Amino acid sequence: MTPDDAKQLLAACAAFDNRQPSAIAARAWAHALPDITLDNDAIAAVARYYGTPPAKPGDRLWIQPHDVRTLRAQIRAERLANFTYEPPPGDADPRYLERLRGQLDATASGTTAAPTTAPALEGGPHPDVAEQLEHVGRTVPDRDDPDTPPIKRPGPLGIACPKCAAPTGRPCRLPSGTERRPHPARARVARGEPAALEDPNEIARRRAVSERRAALEGADQ
Ligand SMILES: [Zn+2]
Repeated sequence: MTPDDAKQLLAACAAFDNRQPSAIAARAWAHALPDITLDNDAIAAVARYYGTPPAKPGDRLWIQPHDVRTLRAQIRAERLANFTYEPPPGDADPRYLERLRGQLDATASGTTAAPTTAPALEGGPHPDVAEQLEHVGRTVPDRDDPDTPPIKRPGPLGIACPKCAAPTGRPCRLPSGTERRPHPARARVARGEPAALEDPNEIARRRAVSERRAALEGADQ
């Protein structure tokens, strides 16, 4: 900022605080703000300063060079709230820093319209999360549903025990409650055999009955 620039800036201040124009003040402000450009944001910084009430009500506002610096930086930073770097097309970005600085300055100064909303994140979730998400909303099979076959387990524990009524998957127990190896009847049912072993006497009795019946039927014909 040159003394001439500072003179214009001080004129903007005088509009609010009636300070008297002074060549000494203009040179002093130019020295205090060598890196600050006299742009719309520098003028806007003065307006913001006098548009904000003093910290202590009743205090007289009197802008200082550091106020211009701070408020101008604030105005520029607000435009960068949703700044997103625009990379060049393709994968290579050899002039990244140069491009970044240019875009930051264009957005901060208001040359490029600042985005009003934060950009949405693109891309899917992490593969681990995606894998978990696949299970969301899936119907959990209900064992009580007659259309759903029960979960098959190999061996005697795959069924409830017909002897001691141990549920599927639970070990057989003695009447005392102590665990024991699966009841033989449970193992037989699990193999698809009848639970009770046939009594040899019963087998012999049935065979005798059926032979007698066959003999009677043969006699009738
Ligand atoms: Zn059992």
